[in-house]
Amino acid sequence: MFSSTDTNNKRALASSNIRGDRYEVKRHQKYPHALNFYSVPPTEEITIDEFEGFAFDRLQVLKALEGAILRNKSEEDIKDIDKKLSLPLHSDDAAKAYPLEEERRKDHISHFILRLAYSRTVDLRNWFLKYECALFKLRFIRENKEERLAFLNNENIRWKNLSQAERELMREKFTKEESNACSITYDDELFEIDFEKVPDLVAKRAVYIKEGKAYVPTTEQISLVMYEFRQRLAKALELASKSFITLRNERIMPMLDEIIKYDGRTQTTNNYSLIDNPNADNLAEHFPLCMQHLYQNLCEKHHLKHFARIQFNLFLKGIGLTVEEALAFWRKSFSEIDEAKFLKDYAYNIRHNYGLEGKRQDYKPLNCMSIISSYRPNSGEIHGCPFREFSQSNLSAKLVQMGVRDEEHIKEILNLTEGEHYQIACTKYFEITRGLSDKNNDNVIIGTIEHPNEYLNASVSNEKNRMKMNNKDKMVNK
Ligand code: SF4
Repeated sequence: MFSSTDTNNKRALASSNIRGDRYEVKRHQKYPHALNFYSVPPTEEITIDEFEGFAFDRLQVLKALEGAILRNKSEEDIKDIDKKLSLPLHSDDAAKAYPLEEERRKDHISHFILRLAYSRTVDLRNWFLKYECALFKLRFIRENKEERLAFLNNENIRWKNLSQAERELMREKFTKEESNACSITYDDELFEIDFEKVPDLVAKRAVYIKEGKAYVPTTEQISLVMYEFRQRLAKALELASKSFITLRNERIMPMLDEIIKYDGRTQTTNNYSLIDNPNADNLAEHFPLCMQHLYQNLCEKHHLKHFARIQFNLFLKGIGLTVEEALAFWRKSFSEIDEAKFLKDYAYNIRHNYGLEGKRQDYKPLNCMSIISSYRPNSGEIHGCPFREFSQSNLSAKLVQMGVRDEEHIKEILNLTEGEHYQIACTKYFEITRGLSDKNNDNVIIGTIEHPNEYLNASVSNEKNRMKMNNKDKMVNK
């Protein structure tokens, strides 16, 4: 797909001059820095597997970042989100322990694949821009000072640095009122920059402003860097959108469509269940809200309508129930229906879901995206995702019923559903009900719930971990 160029090598050479002999060894590296402004597209050949794998891995990181940010995770919580998922990017000082070139290559190529895939509409471009900025920011903050400087020099990003004499001059030039209006002192190192480049700093009065110039302390350097990154990427996305219109590659287009269509959520696996000897009734407390709702209705009314049965039956299949176990479960649950009717009207569909009737297709448990968007319930039906389908008051009541009592928590979940972030609301609900929402908790989940069976597995393993910890504590206290 890509052809080769020596531009990166030239950049690497330039950077090595800036940083002196200590970095001599970097002259021949393609990726001299972990950080990347993605100015130069990759031009090498890659395999289809790499193309898909790289794109989905990056998408997973961006989605996880979106979820974490919307759930108000702290910078500390998300600082290694890319490393914990499948897009690690280590600094030079970790060269002995990690394959840096490989990591940087994947980071570089995956960015460009998603840049192209996400360039097609304004909404997609905005989404990609927002979370690429978030990813770059956490990596920039994580990088050591020396590397940051070397990277910026390499990118030719330099701001006018005021000398001591110039700062003294400013002290005389600025009125006392002007000085008091912002939070920096003349002893700070200061950069001079056009003020419209740092609107966030202007808004929080973290800079001096005089005659169209902002005077920015080095501690606020990140704002300047992010301005550069955002501007460059926004322009690059505009350009990519133009090339996208003319892109007619029959092999690449379906893959780009797939990326957008599935949005990184459906790298399906057949191995949904992590549970030995599953029993639906015993596992009910670990069900996500969608399945809790169906299960509770089934227990009360001894019946579920067609789509609710499909949704729940495939979920049970994902838990690991065999077809015989599923039939026994449904038979017991439909207690007000006689045997002949059950066999005639219901058993066939249950066996059908398991691929034993009709087309004999082995249906997979539905993921959140399918439940949320493909099978919307009509009046009188109760399947679907409660975070999407319930009114605000019904959802609020349901949350209270399920043990969410803190008003702030309820408000947060309702706000997320109002913003149509249903899976993030579900993830938040998971964290709250499992006691994981404490910002200082090491156990915070970093991704977003993508699948009801994934929810169940996460809940079961969380319970196991909790019990292990309790046992440990008991041993220590003995
Ligand atoms: S987000 Fe997914 S797991 Fe959660 S309630 Fe909705 S469909 Fe179920």
